[in-house]
Amino acid sequence: MTDISSREWHLLRRPIGMPKVEDFELATTKVPPPVAGQVQVRNLWMSVDPYMRGRMTDRESYVPPFQIGHPLEGGAVGQVTQSDDPSFIPGDLVLSMYGWREAFNAKPGTLQKLPNVGLPPQAFLGIAGMPGLTAYAGLLRVAAAKAGETVFVSGAAGAVGSIVCQIAKLKGLNVVGSAGGHDKSEWLKTLGCDAVIDYKAYANGSELTAALKQAAPKGIDIYFDNVGGDHLYAAIECARPRARLVICGMISAYNATAPLAGPGNIISVIPKRLRIEGFIVSDHNDMLGEFLGDMAGWITQGQIRYEETVDHGIAAAPEAFLKLFSGGNTGKMLVKLT
Ligand code: NDP
Repeated sequence: MTDISSREWHLLRRPIGMPKVEDFELATTKVPPPVAGQVQVRNLWMSVDPYMRGRMTDRESYVPPFQIGHPLEGGAVGQVTQSDDPSFIPGDLVLSMYGWREAFNAKPGTLQKLPNVGLPPQAFLGIAGMPGLTAYAGLLRVAAAKAGETVFVSGAAGAVGSIVCQIAKLKGLNVVGSAGGHDKSEWLKTLGCDAVIDYKAYANGSELTAALKQAAPKGIDIYFDNVGGDHLYAAIECARPRARLVICGMISAYNATAPLAGPGNIISVIPKRLRIEGFIVSDHNDMLGEFLGDMAGWITQGQIRYEETVDHGIAAAPEAFLKLFSGGNTGKMLVKLT
């Protein structure tokens, strides 16, 4: 048994503003044969996600920051190649947080065997994984969505947003989705959105608000926020009394270099009796079984569709990550490693 070679991405320095490819460094390392109960895995797919931008900054959050000069981490699906643990055998497909690298040794407790629900392995990084659960828990538990309500979804053509839109349709809601560009808008219509806003067609927040008023003339009951900024302002403007604003993400602010002003209409929260609630998907891991059952069924029955944007090879990972901030992805952004 010999060492194998693996390439892995390190954070070279903490990005200021929009990250650059030069902020990352591709290193080559040797992975020795697994020992003392370890399992060796070769990654097949890795995920890039907007939350990783937060981990590149040295500040306190719900996950610790990435360390300079160390491999980055993130969701990955791989195949066991060697195992010194009886619960894993070569060929097993596993989910881990050891992304941004080609191969690694790990303790069995850090690996999750993929459930056999008839979905391709990379689906567990998207529709059947963390982004899918985010959409499911955020809409059904945090927002407590009900049939007949109107939901406004920003970042609607992304991994989370596109699932929110479709679950909302399945549950009988009226759905207004916002995404950047004509192609994404057309795609959202094919997913069943009742109205679509191409936010890039509008010059400012007032125009976006006018577009939302037109798309939802009776107002919105729920706002599923992936973006923040002008979208949050428009949602507050159009919120019906007692609307719920569920803050999943605020990607428009992730590369800000100074604290941003909040929405100028925040005072409307009082007369409209709005509820604004942030959430973190891992707080809802108790829903995983129910979510997976529902989602596998919806996909198999053709009630939910999903799109993936795939870049190839470990060398492409930083560019793939940066696409999240320029809208270069439709659906889940992934890197295929083999
Ligand atoms: P997406 O697949 O939605 O990719 C990001 C998208 O954001 C881009 O495709 C782009 O779409 C849009 N975007 C980027 N910059 C801007 C901008 N300045 N203004 C408006 N839109 C922008 O990512 P995910 O689905 O993985 O994540 C969506 C959101 O959910 C993120 O904010 C993320 O941080 C959050 N999240 C939160 C979780 C939680 O536990 N709270 C868990 C998972 C995700 P477009 O072309 O339409 O501009």
